[in-house]
Amino acid sequence: MSQSAYVEQGREPQESGARGAGAVSMVVSPVTGESHPAAKIPTAEDIVSQIELHNPDADVDMVRRAYEYASAAHAGQLRLSGDPYIMHPASVALTLAQMGFDEHTVAAGLLHDTVEDTDSSIDELDELFGEQVADLVDGVTKINMMTFDTKEEAQFENIRKMILSMAHDIRVPLVKLADRLHNMSTLDFQKPHKRQRISQETMDIYAPLANRLGLHLFKQKLEDLSFRYLQPDAYSEITKWLADNQIVERKLISKVIDKIKAIMDENGIGGRVFGRIKQTYSIYRKMMAQKTPLDEMHDIIAFRVIVNDLRDCYAMLGLVHVLWKPVPGRFKDYISMPKANGYQSLHTTVIGPEGERIEIQIRTEEMNIMAEHGVAAHWMYKERDHAVAMQDMPQFQWLRDLMQRQRDETDSKEFMSSLRMDLFNDEIYVFTPNGAVKQLPKGASSLDFAFLIHTDVGAHCAGAKINGKLQPIATELKNGDMVEIITDKNKHPHRDWLKIVKTSKARSRIQHYLRTEERVAAIALGKEMLEKEGRRADFNVIKASKDGRLQIVLPEFSLHGLDDLFAAVGIGKLTPKKVITRILSILHPKTEPDPVTGVPAPKVEGQHKAQEGIFIKGLDDSLIHFAKCCKPVPGDQVVGFISRGRGVIVHTANCPHVQNLESERLISVNWNNEESKPFPAEITIVGLNEKGLLAKISMMFLQQDVNINALQITSSIDGKSQMDFTVEVHDAVHLYQTIDKLRTIEHVIEVRRGTAVSE
Ligand code: MN
Repeated sequence: MSQSAYVEQGREPQESGARGAGAVSMVVSPVTGESHPAAKIPTAEDIVSQIELHNPDADVDMVRRAYEYASAAHAGQLRLSGDPYIMHPASVALTLAQMGFDEHTVAAGLLHDTVEDTDSSIDELDELFGEQVADLVDGVTKINMMTFDTKEEAQFENIRKMILSMAHDIRVPLVKLADRLHNMSTLDFQKPHKRQRISQETMDIYAPLANRLGLHLFKQKLEDLSFRYLQPDAYSEITKWLADNQIVERKLISKVIDKIKAIMDENGIGGRVFGRIKQTYSIYRKMMAQKTPLDEMHDIIAFRVIVNDLRDCYAMLGLVHVLWKPVPGRFKDYISMPKANGYQSLHTTVIGPEGERIEIQIRTEEMNIMAEHGVAAHWMYKERDHAVAMQDMPQFQWLRDLMQRQRDETDSKEFMSSLRMDLFNDEIYVFTPNGAVKQLPKGASSLDFAFLIHTDVGAHCAGAKINGKLQPIATELKNGDMVEIITDKNKHPHRDWLKIVKTSKARSRIQHYLRTEERVAAIALGKEMLEKEGRRADFNVIKASKDGRLQIVLPEFSLHGLDDLFAAVGIGKLTPKKVITRILSILHPKTEPDPVTGVPAPKVEGQHKAQEGIFIKGLDDSLIHFAKCCKPVPGDQVVGFISRGRGVIVHTANCPHVQNLESERLISVNWNNEESKPFPAEITIVGLNEKGLLAKISMMFLQQDVNINALQITSSIDGKSQMDFTVEVHDAVHLYQTIDKLRTIEHVIEVRRGTAVSE
């Protein structure tokens, strides 16, 4: 009983394996009662010769050592079949070698059960066979070690682990698939309820996984083997029918092949033609789908034409359609529209020489290799030397497409930029509560996840449950986390969120929201300021905005619309006084004498007297408030904060509240009777002890036009240093803007305002 009993009876054109037909004894299957030749245990040389066939330079010595090591480690253990245990890992390794995988993968196949079932350790394998082999065995062992309460949980966790392992090294699931294939082929020796369970799991998880990876041969073999145990009656009905009709079918096959070959020769198209009866399970699926009994099933034969180049594919298609009438609606061009797993081919169904429907697939040699080996083909031919992570593989387009569908696709430019951003990052895979996989860059938070689900989910994100536990939205997600977002309609993006998110999508959504919100606030504030100023000059701003008199200043200030005007005032770019004065001087070009003194009104500058007799440069006093926390008095160094709708609030430069305000909304203010003078301040920076950090910081100070007066550095043993700078800045706005810039320097952990000179 062996792998060869079922696996090699497949109807695919098989590569001739190293297993000779030298049957030693017969084994009777407890399921079918049929007897099969007992397989011989693949030897190290059987395996090595397969590797050398694909890569003459492979380190086959390492494989020989792995074989010896596995034999010794499993010595004395038996399979349920009664075979020595080494039968299993050797068969797994042989399959991997036959499929063209590298020596590391093959060695991992030999060693895959040693850590789980013997005294060996990963460290020992690492020492003896190197890191690659040890990592692969480790990955396979981890998938095996999981135990679960319920079946569904087990399946979910299995898929999850499998995808995670793929992200790490695509070869882990390959070893696992080869392992499963051999176990399936020796399933007769398991107890009946176990056969059922293992087959179901293979059908539910391993075959779809093989399909996703484009490993067509694996997929078919796994499906047929599972089908045999899950639907034994249907399986034997089909196999019996196929055996009974073999002669008829074979005659048809050779007839069609001869015809196709003839037209290829006539037209000078080189290549090969195969005919095969379809896989047992796929015939069953067709029967079910078409509700047709076996005898009426027609397209159970598939022909494959392999030609030399792309042009010949379409030429061949044309010739076949001239020869036999195509069945309408059955032509599929998977060349220009490849399947999600990378599969390319032309498919057509025609009415063949005996009125039979026959399916013909046309593709190039290269496409054929891809069709059979999928992800492995890419890897076999291009990336022999290193672990292959899934982001490098075109076969994972399906996964990306999956992600893509989740994003809102309204902004293609933004999507491209986020795709690029995400591709250049290491990826993690996390799960929605429904088990859908989401891909995020490493370091991403629940907030990134929320925006990935939907912009609205992100914008109203109030919290997140990670693996069932409530966590802050800034929590960095780990591979395999299950994330559930809690939303609240009253929650909105905050500037601090920009510090949390890693993905470009979340960032641009938050920025968009903040810009809109800020502009709305600035417009409201500017409008309010202009109205007040207008009232003072007996000029109704609201009325003027409706009759067009307000708009006449727009060209003066190079503005496009009234909202722009209000916003310019709101953010302090223009003073309301200046705007109103300008309008009045345009509307009434000649200066009117003052009604009381008869003296023409003086030209108003951008400075104004506040009620207390205090002047603030560049700002209208009507909307100035003094902060209650620090109560600035003339002579204090001060800073203005543009509030939302409450005008400008003036704090002392040293007010502790100022460092919590958004530096973008700070504006420079000075008492009118004082010239601005340099403002001494202390800035404390904590950073990692990295070469060049101090240079980068100094450069930033230089760029920001900040003078450094003193510096003190304290290094701590944990690889960090604290730098206390005494600097001179223009004013508090300058100080806080500089602090914000310093925070963007790499390896800087913390920047804060020092306390030494603040009072
Ligand atoms: Mn195994």
